[in-house]
Amino acid sequence: MSSGRPVVAVGALGGTIASSSTDGSAVVPTLSAERLAEAVPGLVESAAVHAETLAMLPSPSLDEPTVLRALCWAREQVDGGAVGVVLTQGTDTLEETSYLLDLFWDRPEPLVVTGAMRSPQSAGADGPANLLTAVRTAVAPASRDRGVLVAFDDELHQARWVAKTDSVATGAFRSPVFGPLGRYVEGEALYGAPARHPVPVELPDLRTRLEEPLPRVPLVVTHLGDKGEVLDVVTAAEPDGIVVGGFGAGHVSAEMAEVVGRAAVAVPLVFASRTGAGPTGRAMYGYPGSEVDLVRRGAIAAGWLSPFKARLLLWTLLLTGETDGERLRAAFADRGAP
Ligand code: ASP
Repeated sequence: MSSGRPVVAVGALGGTIASSSTDGSAVVPTLSAERLAEAVPGLVESAAVHAETLAMLPSPSLDEPTVLRALCWAREQVDGGAVGVVLTQGTDTLEETSYLLDLFWDRPEPLVVTGAMRSPQSAGADGPANLLTAVRTAVAPASRDRGVLVAFDDELHQARWVAKTDSVATGAFRSPVFGPLGRYVEGEALYGAPARHPVPVELPDLRTRLEEPLPRVPLVVTHLGDKGEVLDVVTAAEPDGIVVGGFGAGHVSAEMAEVVGRAAVAVPLVFASRTGAGPTGRAMYGYPGSEVDLVRRGAIAAGWLSPFKARLLLWTLLLTGETDGERLRAAFADRGAP
C-alpha cells in the first residue's frame, strides 16, 4: 500500500492506446506507461499506479518471448505488493497474448489486459476509459482468482474465450457463446456466476528456456477447394506441432484428411473450428475429413478453443516439454471445455 491507496502496476507494451503522430500522419506507438496513466482522469484516486514501459510495439510485432517476459514482470509486481497488474497493448493480438498469459498466471491477484481502438489524439479516444476500467478491475477484490481478464468497452472477459471480432469498432471484443464474465458499472467491476479457470501450467525457468529453440507451431486454416497442399508444405518443414483451422465443427476435405493423417503421425496435430464460435464435434459426422475421421487418424480436437488459442495451448505444452499424445489430448479435453 502507498498513501493508503492500493498499488496497481501498469505495464505498457505499445499499441493504439499508446500511439500518436506529430504531423497528422498515421499513428505509431510512442507513449510511455507514465504518459498513459497521467492522461486518465480519476486514476490517481483509484490506486497508487506504478507505471513501466515494457515495450513500444504495434501488437502484430509482439511475440511469445515478449509476452512471457511481461508475465515475469507481472509476477514480480504482485510479489512486491501490487494488488493487481494491468498490461496495455495493441488490440490486434490481444486475444492471443491474454490467453498465453492466462495459461501461466498462477496468482490470485488480477492480471488485466486492455488497449484501445482509437488512438489518444482522436475524438472519443477509448484508451483512458479502458485503462481506468482495467485499473479499477485490478483493484477490486471480486476480480481475484479469475485468471487473466480482458477489460474493454466496459466489459470484463475471460482470456480463454475473448476474441477480437471487429477491426475498427470500439466494442471490438466479444466472448462468443459464453459472453463476458462481468461489466464495469459506475466505477465497479461486477461479475455474474463464477467461471471455471483451468489449473495454470507450471512456468519453466525462462532464463534458460527462452535461450533454447522455441516450439514452432504453425496454424493452417482450410478453405473451399483446399486439398491439403499448404498443410503438406508445412508438414515438410518439420514443425513441432500443427494446428488446423477446420470448417464448421472441425472438418476438412477428404483429400486434406489424408494429409492430416500423415502429419499427425509425425507431430501433434490439433484441429479447431474456424467459425469463431462453438466447439469441435465429437461424434456428429463420420465422412472422410469429419471430426470423427480426423480423431481416428490421430488428430486432437481443440474443443471450444479458437484456432489461435489452440495454437497457443499446443505451443505452451510443447514449451514445457510435453509431447505425449495422450497427455496432450487430455490437456485439450480439459482446457478446451467450458
Ligand atoms: N489496431 C491495433 C490496436 O488496436 C494496433 C495494434 O494492435 O498494435 O492497438
